[in-house]
Amino acid sequence: MQLRLATEQTFEQYVTQRGWETATLSACPLCEPGTCHLQRLGTYMRKVPSVAYVTRYVCREQHTSFGLLPDFYASRMPGTLDMIEEAAVKAEDAPSLEKVADQVRPADASDAVTLGAALVWLRRRVLMALGTLMTVKGLMPERFGDVPPRVSAFRRRLGTVRVLVALREICAPYLHRLSAPLGLVPRPQVDRRSGRARPQRPGPDPPSRGR
Ligand SMILES: [Zn+2]
Repeated sequence: MQLRLATEQTFEQYVTQRGWETATLSACPLCEPGTCHLQRLGTYMRKVPSVAYVTRYVCREQHTSFGLLPDFYASRMPGTLDMIEEAAVKAEDAPSLEKVADQVRPADASDAVTLGAALVWLRRRVLMALGTLMTVKGLMPERFGDVPPRVSAFRRRLGTVRVLVALREICAPYLHRLSAPLGLVPRPQVDRRSGRARPQRPGPDPPSRGR
């Protein structure tokens, strides 16, 4: 399962400071203190926007591994939350999505080479941002019910240009129930007969993509 690595670092700072080497999980989130063997389990690699690593731990007793996903990363897809936000906010006021698609598509993204593919790439991110904001409005109507579901409006309300990163923290209690790019992969369901964790059901964004 994924856990939040709460951090205000940007991707670039995390890479420069090799944040995966110092990230620590002090206690197993599934067991009573001192009743299990929580161990560091190396790292896994994410490739976008450039190669970096995510720290892993494992609880042998629970047959569960934990990936400490830093707040700037999108979950269950390549890239960062800031990259999604930038694409979405540019699209909000653009007269033509084609122009934005041409500007924001990453030159090295194999799935955004042609303009048509870049448009699909952009639309997917616009929809993800919209879906996230709608979900957050539903979760916290007293706080965000009056905010239009637009990145620019949430930027004004929260006073930041890193809305999705801020929402990772604001939505911390709900992350294991939310979908990509904000939500974290929950604990795998445990097979009662064997006591072993079953593999995650593959969704549209399997956790291994882009790592
Ligand atoms: Zn444990």
